[in-house]
Amino acid sequence: MSFSAESPRYVSTRNEKKVVSFREALLSGLAPDGGLYVPTFIPHVPEAAWRDASSIAELGARVLPFWLGGEVPERDVMAITADALNFDAPVVRLGQGAWMDTYVLELFHGPTLSFKDFGARTMARLMNYFLQDQEEPLTILVATSGDTGSAVADGFAGQDKIRVVLLYPQGQVSPIQERQLIAKRSGVKALAVQGTFDDCQRMVKEAFVDPDLAHIPLSSANSINIARLLPQMLYYFWGYQRLNTPGTHFCVPSGNLGNLTGGILAALSGLPVPRFIAAHNANDFFPRHLAEGWMKFQPSVRTRSNAMDVGVPSNFERLQYLLQGEEMRRRIWGTSVTDAETLVTMRRVYEETGYVADPHTAVGLEAAQRFRRDSGEEAPIIVLSTAHPAKFPETVQEALGIEPPMPERLSRLWQEDTSVEVTAPTLEALKEHVLAHVRV
Ligand SMILES: *Cc1c(COP(=O)(O)O)cnc(C)c1O
Repeated sequence: MSFSAESPRYVSTRNEKKVVSFREALLSGLAPDGGLYVPTFIPHVPEAAWRDASSIAELGARVLPFWLGGEVPERDVMAITADALNFDAPVVRLGQGAWMDTYVLELFHGPTLSFKDFGARTMARLMNYFLQDQEEPLTILVATSGDTGSAVADGFAGQDKIRVVLLYPQGQVSPIQERQLIAKRSGVKALAVQGTFDDCQRMVKEAFVDPDLAHIPLSSANSINIARLLPQMLYYFWGYQRLNTPGTHFCVPSGNLGNLTGGILAALSGLPVPRFIAAHNANDFFPRHLAEGWMKFQPSVRTRSNAMDVGVPSNFERLQYLLQGEEMRRRIWGTSVTDAETLVTMRRVYEETGYVADPHTAVGLEAAQRFRRDSGEEAPIIVLSTAHPAKFPETVQEALGIEPPMPERLSRLWQEDTSVEVTAPTLEALKEHVLAHVRV
């Protein structure tokens, strides 16, 4: 295999000596030493690559090759992004009062109505590309606090080289999210774990290093997989290009920090974003880390923006690797928003601009306003809208007194067959399911 000189290969955050191909980083997910894969260097992505692309798919076909080590020919990258990123990502101007220079980049127009479709669909197709000649199917383990599992299950649906086992915390996702997770799909097993999201994440991490599962080709599809992060750079280039105003900041509703890490990779490779705003809910490890150097992880607490209910953000180790010393604080400003503030913001934005934001996006909108107040910044801010409001009808009803319009794709779900098994929050229980699932 030949590698391009201008394109990186990958190493673990915990061992820079063992260099692997993009293919290997993609297929193994987590590095064998428990670290996360990072590029050996940051390629420079010239402005010409993204400036006049007319769709995200086209932009992806031009930007991703800089990162893929020359391992996927450009015409194949183009076919992959055209198939994976076949939906729109409009920039919506709020344009009223306090929201005058605030924009919403809607990332929820994919099949499962959250931004996770970008990473999951692209990663699934890249994996399928590299697995063409393999006999044994690959089993993907994925822990989800809501949107990852459905995006991953949907992204992999119909790929016969791949099986998926997805874990989610029982009773801690919205009814619609759950319906999306347990929709019956071929090759996909959904487990409702009697524990928290952090339990799910821990079980997956343990399974990867368990000797009883060593004979099964396993991979992850969480935001720890580098192939989920790379496509998540693309909409930053896209949003910046659409708005076309120098000095534009990005505000990112965050949990595991995968979305934000995508933005940081875009910035490090040349996108001139002055500041990123990390918008967290009551799970405030990262804003506290930025403000006071806080390093103590805490159990997650439940909030209205439940896809961000993460006590131990899995991409923190990667962000620390990429942004050393003062660099992290120079590039990122963070804040934490309560549930009460989230509801108030949803109502205010609706009353003042007519825009219906989901609770995750509302955390971002409130954080963007705080950043303006705190910094006196007047430049535009693009808030990433990570989910469609129809996924959270109870919260929208409570905050705005209306029902969000239900896209056809969601209403159809209630007629579909489901499949799920309740599971104890232990490695042993997960192992049994994995072993049974690969046998069939
Ligand atoms: C996953 C998710 C987030 C958090 O993204 P991270 O990459 O984990 O920081 C925010 N909002 C929604 C709707 C999500 O599904």
